[in-house]
Amino acid sequence: MSDTTANLVSTSGLAVAGPQRADVVIDGISKSYMIGPMREQVLEDCSLKLEAGKLTVLIGPSGCGKSTLINILAGYETADAGSMTIDGEPIKGPSSDRLVVFQETALFPWMTTWQNIIYGPEVQRRRSRGDFEAEAVHLLDRVGLGEFRNKYPSQLSGGMQRRAELARAMINEPRLMLLDEPFRGLDAMTRELMQEYFVRLYEEKEQTVLFVTSEIDEAIFLADTLLLMSNKPGHIIQTIPVDLPRPRDPHVLTSSTYLRIKEQALEILHEEALKAFAGGSKAAADFVEAYDQRENETLQ
Ligand code: ADP
Ligand code: MG
Repeated sequence: MSDTTANLVSTSGLAVAGPQRADVVIDGISKSYMIGPMREQVLEDCSLKLEAGKLTVLIGPSGCGKSTLINILAGYETADAGSMTIDGEPIKGPSSDRLVVFQETALFPWMTTWQNIIYGPEVQRRRSRGDFEAEAVHLLDRVGLGEFRNKYPSQLSGGMQRRAELARAMINEPRLMLLDEPFRGLDAMTRELMQEYFVRLYEEKEQTVLFVTSEIDEAIFLADTLLLMSNKPGHIIQTIPVDLPRPRDPHVLTSSTYLRIKEQALEILHEEALKAFAGGSKAAADFVEAYDQRENETLQ
């Protein structure tokens, strides 16, 4: 996206609307792209629901259309068919009530961590300075950056930058928060830490969240509901409720419920991966690997 300001405050670049949470219904979305002379169907009859205040995680092989779906929900792209509503109101184009966090950092390099975090509410002018500054102090603490408030993004590690980014997104309290593989590219330990920071923030705010990932442990650790996406053309093939207690603790990763959900999800994703291989795509190799690893884990 060329306009970097657009993903800073809201999908429209304007102030976000407020702290309400929303039910989202996506019904029969389809999207295709012309690639040279060929039309490529990316999403086909894709339907899903996001429950207000819940953390829904979408997982699927790379190239299956996850980012396309996020971009349509954000209003950056338009669907060829289907409908989307937030609390019954149609979603059309970018709006101040949705906010996207991407993998790439969108922190302003010329602002300190503190200035970056309060930028949204400052522009928005919905809350008093005293109120949003108190919230910023709290959020900085929650993401472990209290000591780094006066540092510039270039002085922070990659993990710290993402944490600052999360705090900056959370302070805006959008009706719908969209996260597109926000922790991709981080090393395994930093990624696990990020998941814990994020889950604590979510549990405190309980905003309506759609979180996209291609990592199965991350997906189950975070989710209230897990949506499995098919290979391209993407659609939801299974919805799995994740009945693990909150506040989430990394110990859940060894519980029998967790292992059952992982088994169920990988079974389906593995099947999709094999279909993709049969079609000549290597896009779903991650799931074949995770599926094989799972067999090793259960053998141990
Ligand atoms: P994911 O996020 O699941 O990895 P994407 O939504 O990024 O998948 O992409 C799905 C498919 O759509 C890919 O084959 C990609 O090449 C294609 N695609 C995505 N955006 C565009 C675009 N703007 N123009 C043409 N093809 C696109
Ligand atoms: Mg993507």
